[in-house]
Amino acid sequence: MNWISNFVRPKIRALVHKEVPDNLWRKCLSCAQMIFHRELEANLLVCPHCGYHLRIGAKKRLGMLFDEGVYKTIELPETPADPLKFRDRKRYTERLKEAQVKTEEKEAILVAHGEMGGMPVVIAAFDFGFMGGSMGMAVGEALLAAAKLAVLQKAPLITVPASGGARMQEGILSLMQMPRTVIAVEQVKEAGLPYIVLLSDPTTGGVSASFAMLGDIALAEPGAIIGFAGQRVIEETIRETLPDGFQRAEFLLDHGMVDMVVHRRDLRETIIRLLKLLGERTPPAEVVALPKAESESADAKPESADAATGAPTGAPAEASGGSAE
Ligand SMILES: [Zn+2]
Repeated sequence: MNWISNFVRPKIRALVHKEVPDNLWRKCLSCAQMIFHRELEANLLVCPHCGYHLRIGAKKRLGMLFDEGVYKTIELPETPADPLKFRDRKRYTERLKEAQVKTEEKEAILVAHGEMGGMPVVIAAFDFGFMGGSMGMAVGEALLAAAKLAVLQKAPLITVPASGGARMQEGILSLMQMPRTVIAVEQVKEAGLPYIVLLSDPTTGGVSASFAMLGDIALAEPGAIIGFAGQRVIEETIRETLPDGFQRAEFLLDHGMVDMVVHRRDLRETIIRLLKLLGERTPPAEVVALPKAESESADAKPESADAATGAPTGAPAEASGGSAE
């Protein structure tokens, strides 16, 4: 018994434990720097030191993308909770409950509608925190519902996968979601609506082998792991060392599997720009082409000197050719 153990130590302990709860600081998984939570939030969960993109929950993702962070989630279809009565070390139902408590979500996906840049959109965002964002029946149904809603609202569909793949606890039933989600996004495309995928870290397994790789435009976040089987499994199978940056967003961009790698802070604007481009409908050729060609030859000739000519003059020429035949 002395004053150090009785007085000093408790005081120090109180100082350390009470005033610094451990959730105020987060360690960057890439550069290992400590980041204050407010700074991290303000920076959209991107490390201010090295630019590493931390994983982000479905709610935050939706809030980040929609205009003023305003959106409405839809009620997801009911599915059987544990069709195979699956049990490993724990019951599947128990795992589900734990994930629901942890994430405060019912499933690993949220489907919401709202506006981006004043245009209606439907977004289906995954939550990796919910059982690794795995795709079971509920997630499959949710994607179907999202596609249906997009077609109904004549709105583009955006999916944001963050998933380890199919949910093994649902066995074959989870694998069936692969063709189902493929058909779902095909319905959106058949309706003439844009389908954009934002590949976030990680997009692997059955999710990458289905709807996630079928976007009209595939965006990815920097550093995101995108692939089917993991790097280690591939290396062990083919007995070769894989190149640096294998299965990262930038690698996929270089190899033509991804269209753009976009920093999180530029995502919203980039998607709005793409939606505007994709949403611009060219007016029916016959109606516009002929009068335009006449008026151009009469009035607008002196203005269309050099740079502006390429696209506008090319289009009516093609269109009038088509109508003549
Ligand atoms: Zn960092």
